[in-house]
Amino acid sequence: MSVGTPRPMFPAYLPSTMAALGYKGILFDIDNTLVHHGDDSTPEVDALFRHIHSLGLKTLLLSDNSAARIERFNRNIRTLFIAEAGKPDPAAYRRACAMLGLPPEQVVCVGDQLFRDIRGANSAGLDSILVDFIRLPGETHYGKKRVLEKVILWFYHRDPRRRGRLDGIGK
Ligand SMILES: [Mg+2]
Repeated sequence: MSVGTPRPMFPAYLPSTMAALGYKGILFDIDNTLVHHGDDSTPEVDALFRHIHSLGLKTLLLSDNSAARIERFNRNIRTLFIAEAGKPDPAAYRRACAMLGLPPEQVVCVGDQLFRDIRGANSAGLDSILVDFIRLPGETHYGKKRVLEKVILWFYHRDPRRRGRLDGIGK
């Protein structure tokens, strides 16, 4: 199952649904998925990870950013991470699953970029959740890839064969 509906931020109710569905691990992109690009973690994000871990799910931060940036973000969370992952290279996702000690089919990848986070996850055999990217109030600049993502998602959601499966998780 691949969940393609963009969500504004990873919702706190999803981890228990994931656990109930048999998933054992979650890979998280950081920038514009959990916090705005370059920001430190927030009390809300720290609490989200505590909640996920309390359910028995394992986590790993999978980021193309530097180790120094991730270590700062991970200060209170203290989870596994891979820096400079080179997404969407599926090797990074396979390595992440190996670090979690889980097969790809028990791991979900959460990210804000269709061509990076989601494409890489799917080519490595992981399920995925696309979240709507975090932007600051008044931030209106869209990169070219974002525009292309919007076009692809518009056609994706328009296809009646796909409609039923998109929101199969967490509803
Ligand atoms: Mg991102």
